[in-house]
Amino acid sequence: MPSNKDIDWARLRTAAQEAARMAYAPYSNFFVGAAGLTDDGRIVSGCNVENASYGLTLCAECSMVSDLHRSGGGRLVAVAVTGPHGNPITPCGRCRQLLVEAGGSECIVNEVDTVGALLPDAFEFPAPLPTS
Ligand SMILES: [Zn+2]
Repeated sequence: MPSNKDIDWARLRTAAQEAARMAYAPYSNFFVGAAGLTDDGRIVSGCNVENASYGLTLCAECSMVSDLHRSGGGRLVAVAVTGPHGNPITPCGRCRQLLVEAGGSECIVNEVDTVGALLPDAFEFPAPLPTS
């Protein structure tokens, strides 16, 4: 796992901003992008996708995790989330739990936090039960 100083945060933030430009946010006009660096060096990204019902809205982190699996899986080691002006955005509670599963508590968020710091004592599914 690369250390924080080895991560090209400018590249990651740029990827997040590029994703934000593709957001579907006709209700809030709050365009969010997320970009993640995977453990094998790929950059995956996503944007928010709003829905008229609001409750069905997908956060940028959700579509980024979908892109993670679509592009081959693996683990996230670092994530940048940016708002409409390229400013860092802190993941919402639901996305923090999503990032626990996709990157683990050590995954670095917006250069200054880890998923574990943002969501201490996160829910983790117990080990699989024996099959016999
Ligand atoms: Zn979210």
